[in-house]
Amino acid sequence: MTTQQKINEAPINFAEDIISNVKNTREDGVLKCVQCGLCTSTCPAARHSEYNPREIIERVLDGDETIMHEDYLWNCFYCYTCHSVCPVGNSVCEVNQILKQFAINQGIGGDKLYEYLGFLTHTLMQQLELFLKYFSTILQKMSLAGQK
Ligand code: SF4
Ligand code: SF4
Repeated sequence: MTTQQKINEAPINFAEDIISNVKNTREDGVLKCVQCGLCTSTCPAARHSEYNPREIIERVLDGDETIMHEDYLWNCFYCYTCHSVCPVGNSVCEVNQILKQFAINQGIGGDKLYEYLGFLTHTLMQQLELFLKYFSTILQKMSLAGQK
């Protein structure tokens, strides 16, 4: 699909809908994007995949609704680095969350949501396992120290 190709009879006005969305805390930050690319250069997801925060904002400002179909939208894991470094007070992190919500509302992202939740659950279980191992080691050391 070309970037300007529309997928909807009644196109979303991305910028306006993002600004008025409850998840947006940066008011009209999305309109101030100067395409400096700082978000992309500091984004861990961009380092390891084709995900590109700067391009997301470019496509939003172009009104390109095909962005909602991009699998890589789901590569953002909300570290908020882009949110803290943007020189004009935009937050690609929040824009990403709103775009995913639009996609789910339009029945586009449901399968991705399950994949994403599966990934999150897997990651959380790994962290829990590590924590339990660590906790059990501490308990063992405390019990050994108590026997001396
Ligand atoms: S850091 Fe901010 S201004 Fe620069 S490209 Fe990203 S969103 Fe736009
Ligand atoms: S919140 Fe998402 S878009 Fe922003 S830096 Fe982190 S992974 Fe990248």
